Order: sequence, then C-alpha cells, then structure tokens
Amino acid sequence: MTVTVLIPVYNEVDGLAECYRRLDAVAGNCAENFEFLFVDDGSSDGSAQWLLELRQRDARVGLIELSRNFGKEIAVSAGLDHASGDVVMLLDADLQDPPELIPEFIAAWREGYDIVYGQRLSREGETWLKIQTSHWYYRVINVLSDVPIPADAGDFRLLSRRAVEAVRALREKHRYMAGLYAWIGFPQKALPYHRHPRHTGQSKWNYLRLWGLALEGITSFSTVPLKLATLLGVVTASAAFLYGVYFLLRTLLFGNPVPGYPSLIVVMLFLGGVQLICLGIIGEYLGRTYVESKQRQLYYLRGLHPSRERQHDD
Ligand code: UDP
Ligand code: MG
Repeated sequence: MTVTVLIPVYNEVDGLAECYRRLDAVAGNCAENFEFLFVDDGSSDGSAQWLLELRQRDARVGLIELSRNFGKEIAVSAGLDHASGDVVMLLDADLQDPPELIPEFIAAWREGYDIVYGQRLSREGETWLKIQTSHWYYRVINVLSDVPIPADAGDFRLLSRRAVEAVRALREKHRYMAGLYAWIGFPQKALPYHRHPRHTGQSKWNYLRLWGLALEGITSFSTVPLKLATLLGVVTASAAFLYGVYFLLRTLLFGNPVPGYPSLIVVMLFLGGVQLICLGIIGEYLGRTYVESKQRQLYYLRGLHPSRERQHDD
C-alpha cells in the first residue's frame, strides 16, 4: 500500500531540506511505500528547481508546478487530482505539523476512518488575538452551517482513497477546504497534537486573508446571513411603525412642539447602515455566484513531474 504525502509549497526554499530530511526519516520507519508529492504554487524563490533536483536523487519525489500562485486551497486540490496513493496525507512545508505523527494517522485509517484530521491542542508562536478570533469563528460557523465543522482542525490530515475521490468531485472555485472535508461525510476521527511555530520563513497569512477565509467559510456553507437580512428588515420596519404610532399619539395628545432633528438623523443613519449591510451580504453571495458561473478551470499546470516510481508503475 502507498501513502502519498502531499505538500503545498510557496516560497519555502529555506525549509525544504529540513522538511525532506524529516519525511525521509519517517518513511524509513514505516512499512508502507511512500510518495512525496510537492505542489509548487508559483514560487519565485527557486523552490521548484530545488525540488526538481531532489526528484533526480529520490525516486519517491514528485512535483506539480502550477502556472502561477493560486493559493493553498487550489494547490492542495491540484495535488489531490494527481496523488496516486491509497491514502493521502496533507502536510505543510513549514513543519508546523510534525511529520513524525504520520504513522499515527495511518493507524487510525486502519481502524476504518476515511478522514483522520489533526486537531491543534496548542498553538505555539501565535498571538492571543489569533487564537481568540479562531475560537469565536468556529463557534459562529457551527451555528450557521448545516454540517458540523470541527474547530482547530487545519489541513494536517489523512484522506482515504474514496475521501480523495469525493473531494476531487467538488469543483467549486471558492474552496473552503475544512468545510468540504466535513461536507463529504464518511467516518472521521480527530487526532490531537501540538502545533509548532514555523521552522523558517514567514506565514503567508494575515488578518485580511483570515477575514476573507472567514467569509468564504460562512458563505460557502450557509445561506443564513441572507435570511438574517430579511429578519433585520422586518424588525427595523416594525420598530419604525411603532415609533410612528408613538409620534402620532404624542402629536394628537400634546400638539407638535417640533423637536425631531436628533431622532431623525439617528433613524436615517441607522436605516442607511442596515441597508448597506444587507446589500453587502447579498453582494458577497452574488459575487460568488458570478465567479462560479464562469466555470473557469481551477488551475493550470506549468509542469508535471510524477515521482519516478509511480511512472514505472503506469
Ligand atoms: N502555501 C501555498 N500557497 C500559498 C500560501 C501558502 O501553497 O499561496 C503553502 C505554504 O508553502 C505552506 C502551507 O501552504 O506549505 C501553509 O502556509 P502558511 O504556513 O503560510 O500558513 P499558516 O500555517 O500560517 O496557516
Ligand atoms: Mg504555516
């Protein structure tokens, strides 16, 4: 049986040697055959050349080169399209997730689980703010979405062949991977582990991208915000009606001493804000519908270099 270790790479040249060294050690201690499938996501620092040279030395190494930087989700999807193993293990190149745990993932797979996902117990080297936002984000999305999306489960996970095929069949352009893995179903198991700080280099994430990812998750797996917009409209309209009745009665009973300016401006600004929020919510969904409707291909390849062992099998 073959394990494909799938590693998205974007400008990680300083860390690749250490990544390969540790993977090689893990593979040496396992009975299974290994394929190391790297996906170069349009790196500009020579990561692809480095990996091509590695492929000459080690027949287990394969490399997929995307035509430009498409982002990690698409890089992983491209890898899943080309991974040939009986199981696929996803791993970050920055060694935040220890490759030494791979045998434990395989053991859980042998128990009959299709997806074994690493669940972060600790997040060394991450700020209090990031941990808090992440915690609350999962609370919110699990209220909104139809399928439960496990908290603190990143991309460090193992997929069985049928789970890989299931995810591959979903060709949506906006790929909220944690949601897709949950959505396909199949028996899934959490494997708690401690997440380390980056080995070298900088994380490509920042708060703007996290905000984008958060919106992605919610809009891809829930239409509740659209319903909230309707609810918000009904509530404000009812409040405005009651306010109107109050003014009518007050004018009839006490005459009209013309106050009004502060209440007028508050109501106007409030309604304007509510309308803009609702338009924004509709816009988020409309934009995604637009992108999906173009039916563009997910990615293009600049080069495809399967592992040489695999080539001989075919
Ligand atoms: N990555 C990628 N394309 C990108 C950004 C990141 O393939 O556009 C890869 C990166 O090389 C690494 C993994 O995705 O192997 C995780 O990236 P990063 O460490 O920046 O994310 P974080 O761990 O902070 O979530
Ligand atoms: Mg990382």
